[in-house]
Amino acid sequence: TEFVTVSELATMMDVSVNQLIGTLMSIGVMASINQRLDAETINLVADEFGFQTEYVSAEVQEAVSEEEDDESDLVPRAPIVTVMGHVDHGKTSLLDHIRNTNVIAGEAGGITQHIGAYSVTMKNGRKVTFLDTPGHEAFTAMRARGAQVTDIAIIIVAADDSVMPTTKEAIAHCQAAGVPMVFAINKIDKPGANPDRIREDLANMNLLVEEWGGKYQCQEISAKKGIGVDDLMEKVLLEADMLDLKANPNRKASGTIIESSLDKGRGYVSTVLVSNGTLKVGDIVLAGTSWGRVKAMFNERNQRIDNVGPAEPAIVLGLNGAPTAGDAFHVIDTDQEAREIANKREQLQREQGLRTQKRLTLGDISHRI
Ligand code: GDP
Ligand code: MG
Repeated sequence: TEFVTVSELATMMDVSVNQLIGTLMSIGVMASINQRLDAETINLVADEFGFQTEYVSAEVQEAVSEEEDDESDLVPRAPIVTVMGHVDHGKTSLLDHIRNTNVIAGEAGGITQHIGAYSVTMKNGRKVTFLDTPGHEAFTAMRARGAQVTDIAIIIVAADDSVMPTTKEAIAHCQAAGVPMVFAINKIDKPGANPDRIREDLANMNLLVEEWGGKYQCQEISAKKGIGVDDLMEKVLLEADMLDLKANPNRKASGTIIESSLDKGRGYVSTVLVSNGTLKVGDIVLAGTSWGRVKAMFNERNQRIDNVGPAEPAIVLGLNGAPTAGDAFHVIDTDQEAREIANKREQLQREQGLRTQKRLTLGDISHRI
């Protein structure tokens, strides 16, 4: 059995991919970044970094099993998009521009609070959900936990700079996860801008953009002046069309925790992103070792909402704890069942925590929901 890729293992151990590849080489294993490793190799290399490895079966993880959807129940859903790139290359400017120019009519007030994810209706009427977690650390942390939230990544690179190491790392993670990328060459309004150099940097990484005969969509933009942003979003939507994203809104909700915190007035507050089904006020939600009945939900405009469908985010009140970003959530039928699973998970965590501090837990990812 093969478990995780080199890049995923590096993330789990918090070492650089290069360091890991180097150590693999030193024990006689030539591995590329996207290569999956078997248990023996993982044991050896983890040991080099001072980790003990533990393999946990899907059953022990107390996963919540789910029925498959019938093809006929599936309807199109919005794509979930993340903007990734080096600091100062324009992620925030791009997101701000999209948010400020595409709020649908009647939705006065705009987005009033930062909730880590929000859904925008484009001028052409199509919805896109943006994940806006700080940096790409959150993304990699989620990946390491086996959660894949993003459908499409916009990789932004400033045209007066070059493809930086953090950008390369983000690209590697997308490749490892099979997440399609659309490149945005930003700051083309700047006098020193040299978009061709960026295309060349990418070509040197084996990423040939469409205008150079390759397969990667790429758009020159100025996030600051709004140049090319509509075209960029057209390309993102084209990528989404090819993915044929669908979900079943008529079932119990499941999805991912984006972030959570303890609020003095409101108790535990979690931002969730529904991936399938519809989440309703009154539902019993289980995420990690936390659970509770949904007391109230809010959208990114701080309006109360009663239900949230696929690919839509919401702020949820009512959980009895703060789940970790990247935890899956499920709607459970009864209080009792939710409490039982949460307790078992807690017990498991305690036992594992006692064994060793520096420990990797590798589950059978294909069975983890
Ligand atoms: P982030 O760190 O990736 O979120 O980058 P920001 O969006 O905060 O942008 C960093 C700096 O670059 C800010 O001073 C922006 O005003 C500037 N900036 C972003 N996009 C553009 C652009 O298209 N043109 C120019 N001239 N400046 C930009
Ligand atoms: Mg920023």
